Amino acid sequence: MPIRILVVEDEADIARLIKRTLERAGDMRVDIVDRGDDALDAVLPNPPDLIVLDINLPAVNGFEICRLLRAKPVTASVPVIMLTARGAESDRVSGLDLGADDYITKPFSVRELAARVRAVLRRRPAGAVSPAPYRSAHLVADFDAVAVTVDGTPVRLTRTEFELLRCLVESRNRVLSRGRLLERVWGQDGTTATRSIDVHIARLRSKLCAAGDQIETLVGLGYRFVDLPGTDGDGPA
Ligand code: CA
Repeated sequence: MPIRILVVEDEADIARLIKRTLERAGDMRVDIVDRGDDALDAVLPNPPDLIVLDINLPAVNGFEICRLLRAKPVTASVPVIMLTARGAESDRVSGLDLGADDYITKPFSVRELAARVRAVLRRRPAGAVSPAPYRSAHLVADFDAVAVTVDGTPVRLTRTEFELLRCLVESRNRVLSRGRLLERVWGQDGTTATRSIDVHIARLRSKLCAAGDQIETLVGLGYRFVDLPGTDGDGPA
């Protein structure tokens, strides 16, 4: 079964370029729609494995499509990569707040796009199997057992810090906006000041000691938990 990708883009040249790039490896089939309302009609009866979603579209824009998809159980977990205009930081923040999994800034390289698509697909949850503990050079986080250690030493986290870490690790290598973290960790939409997230992140980072560097701050965008490749703890930072 090929991986089914839906590209929602009204610029035909870009849409065709994305289709050609993603289909090159032979394991993906790409459909294109060029209007926002057509996108919803195409997705709802038969959700694809991933959606590449432009923002400026005829009829219904990409933000609204993303919001509608996330609101419906059948499409709530379909990965979405948004295409944003260069420099439009507010587009990126809005897209991530609405639940997009990643974004690509136009103009983009097709290699980067293909890599992002594959990275997002790899992160899809594999059914309801309880996940193995997360391990990095310094950190072991067993979210089922509620046990976190750094370099073998147990770390005491508050419930909020624990949920924050879980959220970051589950979405690792992906940017999470403050709004998205608020929604996922605190389960509300605006009554907690987003600045309080920064305070919790700072505490979590400090408790994680050497593993704290895995939490990156992206100014104006949010946070990202990164797998640091080749970290062995004795090299320069
Ligand atoms: Ca467009």
